[in-house]
Formats: sequence, C-alpha cells, structure tokens
Amino acid sequence: GDEDLDSVTPPLPSISLFRTERRWGDTTSYAGKKKLQSWFQLPNGNWELGKILSASGTETVISLPNEKVLKAKTEDLVPANPDILDGVDDLMQLSYLNEPSVLYNLQYRYNQDMIYTKAGPVLVAINPFKKVSLYGNEYIEAYKRKAVESPHVYAITDTAIREMVRDEVNQSIIISGESGAGKTETAKIAMQYLAALGGGSGIEHEILKTNPILEAFGNAKTLRNDNSSRFGKLIEIHFSETGKISGANIQTFLLEKSRVVQCTEGERSYHIFYQLCAGAPPALRDMLNLKSADEYKYLQQSNCYSITGVNDAEEFRVVKEALDVVHINEEDQESVFAMLAAVLWLGNISFTVIDNENHVEAMADEGLFNAAKLVGCSLEELQLALSTRKMRVGNDNIVQKLTLSQAVDTRDALAKSIYACLFEWLVEQINKSLAVGKRCTGRSISILDIYGFESFDRNSFEQFCINYANERLQQHFNRHLFKLEQEEYIQDGIDWTKVEFEDNQHCLSLFEKRPLGLLSLLDEESTFPNGSDLTFANKLKQHLSSNSCFRGERDKAFTVSHYAGEVTYNTTGFLEKNRDLLHLDSIQLLSSCSCHLPQIFASNMLNQSEKPLVGPLYKLGGVDSQKLSVATKFKGQLFLLMKRLENTTPHFIRCIKPNNIQSPGLYEQGLVLQQLRCCGVLEVVRISRSGFPTRMSHQKFARRYGFLLLENVASQDPLSVSVAILNQFNILPEMYQVGYTKLFFRTGQIGVLEDTRNRTL
Ligand code: ADP
Ligand code: MG
Repeated sequence: GDEDLDSVTPPLPSISLFRTERRWGDTTSYAGKKKLQSWFQLPNGNWELGKILSASGTETVISLPNEKVLKAKTEDLVPANPDILDGVDDLMQLSYLNEPSVLYNLQYRYNQDMIYTKAGPVLVAINPFKKVSLYGNEYIEAYKRKAVESPHVYAITDTAIREMVRDEVNQSIIISGESGAGKTETAKIAMQYLAALGGGSGIEHEILKTNPILEAFGNAKTLRNDNSSRFGKLIEIHFSETGKISGANIQTFLLEKSRVVQCTEGERSYHIFYQLCAGAPPALRDMLNLKSADEYKYLQQSNCYSITGVNDAEEFRVVKEALDVVHINEEDQESVFAMLAAVLWLGNISFTVIDNENHVEAMADEGLFNAAKLVGCSLEELQLALSTRKMRVGNDNIVQKLTLSQAVDTRDALAKSIYACLFEWLVEQINKSLAVGKRCTGRSISILDIYGFESFDRNSFEQFCINYANERLQQHFNRHLFKLEQEEYIQDGIDWTKVEFEDNQHCLSLFEKRPLGLLSLLDEESTFPNGSDLTFANKLKQHLSSNSCFRGERDKAFTVSHYAGEVTYNTTGFLEKNRDLLHLDSIQLLSSCSCHLPQIFASNMLNQSEKPLVGPLYKLGGVDSQKLSVATKFKGQLFLLMKRLENTTPHFIRCIKPNNIQSPGLYEQGLVLQQLRCCGVLEVVRISRSGFPTRMSHQKFARRYGFLLLENVASQDPLSVSVAILNQFNILPEMYQVGYTKLFFRTGQIGVLEDTRNRTL
C-alpha cells in the first residue's frame, strides 16, 4: 500500500529530554532529620539501611546493621521509608520513591514469595526460579470473585477482561523483560486465566496446547534460560459477545534461524530435534533413518544434549498429542518430522575437494543419501544444488563450481530455510485450527511475549533487530503512559503539573529515517554486489555521525544510545543476514521435489518472489527474484504490530530476573536495578502518583452510577448527575478533577463506586 511506515510516529508536542542520575531520586533533604533511617551505598554498589545518629549540615553519622558506625556525606544518603511501609504492594504507596527504597520493597516481597508488585499501572514480576503456590483453580476463582487484592498476573488479566467488556475496546497485555525474566511463563499464566474465565467452547484447550508446540519448535536452551524463546509472539484471543473464547490467532516474529546450523558451547538447538531423536517410536525412526542426537553434526557442535530435569522423549509425546489437538493430521505430522530429519541429515553432508582451485563436491555419504530421500529428490540433484550455482552472464547460463565455504553456506542456508518454512507452516496450521468463525464479531485480548532489550559483549544483527523492536515498544509504553496522559489532561483543561520524561524518538529516527537511517543504509548496502560489512560500517559513520544517538567505532563497529543504555554492534555478518538469500538452485530444488515438501513450502518458499512492501530487490543468481530484506520485513511486521496495539487498551507487565544463574532466592540488587532502569518503572510510578490515571466521560459516569443516587437531582445533565454521585460517595476533592468532557480520578477512587454498583446489580 502507500502507507508510510514512518507514520506510526505522528509528530508530538515538544517535550524535554533529560537523563540525570537523580531522575528518580527523591530530592528531599536529610539535614536535620534524626532517628530516621537512611540508605547508605556500600563500595560494592549494594545499599544498606542505616539509622541516623546525628546530622550536621554536610555530614551525617549513621549506624549500619553490622553495628558499624560511620560518617557519611549527607548528600550521599538516600531517605528510607518508615517500617510500616515495608513490602507495600504498590510502589505508588512509598513515601520516598528512590532506587534503594524500590529495590528494598521488591526484595522484601520477593523473600516471602510475593513475586508480583504494582508500580502504578504496571505489574512488576520477579522470577522466583522455583514453584510458588500462587496459581491454579483456587487462585483463579479468588481473583475472579475479587476475594484477593494482591497484585498478580490473574488480576491484570481480569482487569483486561472487564475493560474489554465495559469499554468495548480490544485489550493487550504487553510483557517485556530480558531473556530468562519470565515473559513466556507469565504469558502462559495469563492464558490460563483467560481460558478459565472465557472457556466453555472447548477451543481454550486447543489454545493452551499451542504452547508446547511453539516451545518445542521455537525454544532452545541458552546460557541464560533453559527454555529460551527464540522468536517473538503475539497471540490474539477472541471473545464472543457472551464473553466466551471463540478463537485465536498467533503471529510470530523473527525466529532465530542461525541456531539450526550453529550454536554456542553449552547451548542447544531447538528442543524438537532432541525430542524427535529421543522420543520417535520405532516405525518413525526407521522411516527417517533416525539416529541419536549425538550423531548429528548440527547438534554436536555445542556439546550439550540434555537439560536437567527435562525428559525429551516424554516431551515428544506431549508435543505429538498437542499436534493432534490442533488438528494437524498424522500424515502432516510425518512430513514435519521428515523435514526435521532432513535438516539434521543435511548437516552431516560433507564435501570433498575435486580440483586444484579448491572447488568441492558433496560426498555421496549417509547424510546426502538420507537428506535427498527425505527431501524427495535424487542424490544427484541435491549434490548439484550444494556444489554448484547457476549464473547468468550476459546471455549465457553458466554453472559455477563452489568452494568449500560457499558450499557449506549453501547447505546451511538450505537447512535454515527448511526449518524456518516449517515453523511458519506450523503457525499457519495452528491459526487455521484456531480460526474464529465468521459469525463471531466480538472483542479480543492480545498477549505479546517478545524478547527484551539485549546487550552482550558482542552484539550482532539479531540484537540490532531486537533492540530496534524494543525501542518501538518503549515508545508505545511512553506514549501510552506519559504523553497521552499529559495530552489528555491538557486537552480536558485539567490542572496538572507537567512531568518530564525521557523520549526515545531520537533513537527511533536513527533507525527509521530515510534515506539516511540505519535500516535504509543497511538495505542499500545489501543491494550492492560489492557491498560488505566494512563498506556498510563506513557508510554509517559517514552519514550518521551527526546524530547524537550514534557513534562510529573502530573495526566495523558502531554504538547506539538506546533508551536502556549504549550498545555496540559489530557489523560482521550484517549484510548476509539481512539479505538472507537462498540460492535459486536450492529454491528450484525444493519446489520440484517429490515428497511432502511442496505442500509445506509452496506458499513460503515461493514467496521469495513476492512483491516487497519497501526495500531492496535482490537478484538471485542472475534470475530476477524479489525478496524483502530481513530488516525491512521485520520493520513491516513491527509497524503492523504497533498499529494493532495502538487500537487496544494496553496492560504492561515487566518481568525481572533477580540473578543470572536461574537460582531461587538470590536477589542481586545491581542486576534488578539495571532492569528497573531499562524499563522506566520508577518514572511510571512518579507520574502516576502525581496524576489522575482513571477517567470517564461525564455521560458514561452518570449512566454507570446514576442509578445509585439516593436523591433526585434537579438537573439531569450528565455533569450535575456526576457531581451528585461524587458528593453522595464522599469522594474527596483532591482525589478527582472535573474536566471539560471527563472526570479524572486518582488511583483506587472508582473502586468504591464499582463495588457498590456490583452489589446492587
Ligand atoms: P523468558 O520468556 O523471559 O525468557 P521464561 O518465561 O522462559 O523467560 O522463564 C524462564 C524460567 O524461569 C522458566 O523456565 C521457569 O523455570 C522460571 N520461571 C519464570 N516464571 C516463573 C514463575 N512465575 N514461577 C516459577 N518459575 C518461573
Ligand atoms: Mg520466552
């Protein structure tokens, strides 16, 4: 279409940017306050609670828990909250809102297995890394009846359902956090609650069964998480007008394909490979010539075959059963397993040098034999596709022989491509099975589980895309919680002191600006036959150095100032990953082969010649074939995602990982703090506290609660009715404001009204 991707970001009123160390700090001075408690930062960065013994101007004497008494500069101390506020379930309630107080409050709760805490409208979830008894039917029932109030995924999901019904607006639950923070588990917990409340039609069981399938094919053991999702996921759950689940739709983002052919020591490839090798019944084993996982080269490289506490054979049965539930028939399942085996066997194909120019030929070994058989082509066809490349030079077709590294790349590209298509095909089948009947025109709740911000010692194209996505999501978060809020107050004539907040538009522009932005320059360089990672890096330095979020680095690297911190990207492999080419020979091979492949690949593989939205066209082997670059495709997906989310009422859950070793009970302050900073939790609290987060139009308010009035009101206009209701319920003047069109309430004020209404109805 002619829609401009940049239009996701309409111009906004200018806002001030600031980033200072004290941005969350409470600036209350400590001088002169005795017998109070205060936070003192130890040399290791952790905070300790001390009692103030005396304070004189610039110096304060405090005693620490280990009975040590020391003098500290008053300005280095941070006020602590009174004991009575220990472990409050909403950070909004803290008198002093500063980093150590928030860290302490979260830790206080965490130590008692209260892993959920509200931060104003945001739910903070700290990964317990152990079973906590907070889930299951009893809890679901209790939250449904509103018999419990403590913050919980159930509670936020309950709010989403209620607001969907009440406001007739689609809802979204946006879950973010670092790898291993608990996003996927949280998404499943939310789905459980939805299934329990909206169940009845039976479709909810199917929806829940998509989890084991997608995890088997899209999750892997990494150093950070034994069950790390290597793709992003949006699941949209539809409800009928009667509030029952009527269907669902899943969209996935950016599966990490490279893991299929290559993974780091100690990590694993996708679970399904190990499950298949361990759990396939004898007949299937024979059909696929299956061996054990440690006989496959792709799985050998990381030298890790099992996960503590996981039985892959058993998981295989679980996945198979789930495939049955989502109506993938036996024959299709066999095709899926055949493709998986084909990928594994492809990895075992080796090459031998055939001339003195280092050209190679695929050896007619067990790998080639089995791969060809499973793919459904002849040995020779596969051999040719992996050892040569057809080129068009002028008017002639020539056949070029490949060197070892070219041949290995071709083989790996084929394996990755088969796997990625298989994954997409599976999602399509699941979607068909969960599709909403045409009759249903109800509302939906979407759950987004997407990789959080990543910053490693070495960051590549994958981190580049992931962090770009997080900038987009962060903007959504900012816009929703800060900007829209402010704008609405101003529009409605509400007296509200502006709160400053950080905006990341600058960084997003660095990525998205055309023609001189990171993505455009990457695409442009990817279309040049002689473009290389080095020429790309140089172009960036040449064109973007004036942007304050960009810094060129030595050795083909560059640094981006993300909202969550600086990340240095190494451009090695950027162009190749962005082009993601599959040679025409491979495409032709796959589209002509005889077995189950064409059915699985027809749509996806041949999409390679699909007309692109924007971005470069690639020439494959001299034959015109158009394909979207990976970055452009991803940008398009994100654009659609944001559009979808913008039409929903969002609910945010921020998952936090308290340690890097997946260990229960270990709470590392520094690590938690860094994550809290990344997602702006404290700013949200600060803003929510000073604002009026609940709002309702005069009409709606009058309609909703007018019948509770005990006395008749002289005038029936909505505003008069509203004011009468406020008076009758004794809502204090400082707890609300009356705008031109809406009433604005501080948090928690409307609860009394809702409760009375529910009791009365
Ligand atoms: P992410 O999706 O953010 O990478 P996961 O949701 O996969 O992280 O969580 C990583 C691991 O942490 C899980 O496999 C599980 O062991 C543990 N975990 C996460 N959330 C919970 C929870 N609420 N209760 C118990 N364990 C959890
Ligand atoms: Mg996950």
